[in-house]
Amino acid sequence: MSANRVTRLTEAMNREGLAAVAIVPGANLRYLTGVDFHVTSRLSLVLFPADGGLPCFVVPTLEMARVQSSIAIPVQFYPWNDATGPAEALRSAVGKLVPDTAARVGIEYMVMRVRELRALEEAAPGLQTVDATPLLAGLRMVKEQDELAAMAEAVRIIEVAFQQTIAQIRPGVTERELATTLANAIIAAGGDGESFPSIVAGGPNGAYPHHENSDRPLEVGDLIIIDGGARYGAYLSDMTRTVALGEPGPEARRIHDLVLRANAAGRAALRPGISGEAIDQAARAVITAGGYGEYFIHRTGHGLGLDEHEPPYIVAGSTDPLPVGATFTIEPGIYIEGIGGVRIEDDVVITAEGGRSLTSFERELIVLPV
Ligand code: ZN
Ligand code: ZN
Repeated sequence: MSANRVTRLTEAMNREGLAAVAIVPGANLRYLTGVDFHVTSRLSLVLFPADGGLPCFVVPTLEMARVQSSIAIPVQFYPWNDATGPAEALRSAVGKLVPDTAARVGIEYMVMRVRELRALEEAAPGLQTVDATPLLAGLRMVKEQDELAAMAEAVRIIEVAFQQTIAQIRPGVTERELATTLANAIIAAGGDGESFPSIVAGGPNGAYPHHENSDRPLEVGDLIIIDGGARYGAYLSDMTRTVALGEPGPEARRIHDLVLRANAAGRAALRPGISGEAIDQAARAVITAGGYGEYFIHRTGHGLGLDEHEPPYIVAGSTDPLPVGATFTIEPGIYIEGIGGVRIEDDVVITAEGGRSLTSFERELIVLPV
């Protein structure tokens, strides 16, 4: 982990006029401090001051050992125990870091619970809270070499797991059984778990991008969408392929070919400075020209790293230029009610030369013999 992450956070806070940023356990805390720690019923809050002083960890005493074992930077602890509660520890930390009671403090709108917000407001009445999500996302968007290496390993694992899972497809196997096969194959290939519960959508179920796996047995003639990812350490992969069980019909072939060309157009558009919107347009134009524009019902992709969905988003309105090192998915799809769907998803990174796909699993339609 690079030691300058907190320095970059401090610089960003000063640019934005924030006195501090208050962070709860999760991906941002892991990124900044190395601490692998999750939200529990007890309050944990970490305050990073804009003056460059030590981050203040307000944590339950019983979590201290766990935090200390993974922390990568010097910090100051404000432990509290169940008998006393967190109010006094939080008041000391806030009072020390943010003596100006009208100061602006950044918080994570997408992650912080109401209980941490209320505790913060009680510890420092008058404090103004603002959303620090974009600031934190900006720090995390450009991946360092060790982050890219972890993502490449997460990709290697999911590709091995896909190979093994696709080999198990035959008529009568259910979506749920296949999803279990994929989850086990991820662990067997060296993964620390799934990035998210994988999706197996066979036949008509493929019309729903967020299909919940069912006990429907796969049938000859199905297109089968398989969407899964592996976690390696803290980093994630996320890949989708669509395979055919037996010879697909002409429309299934046509929509797979369109989605494949849309995926290729999205990848071909990659270059430093391009916007998420422009990549979305490049992929979408292919599907629209093929007559299926109204069936491509979601954005083209999302950022990927410590979180399954993080900035940048590859969608209309996402106009910021993408920097070298930004990692995200390209996942166009076509979904037709009553028939099924196709999605082809790759994980890519912007490079100085343009861009490169971290995933390289076969994208042409795999037709499984029956
Ligand atoms: Zn996915
Ligand atoms: Zn995805």
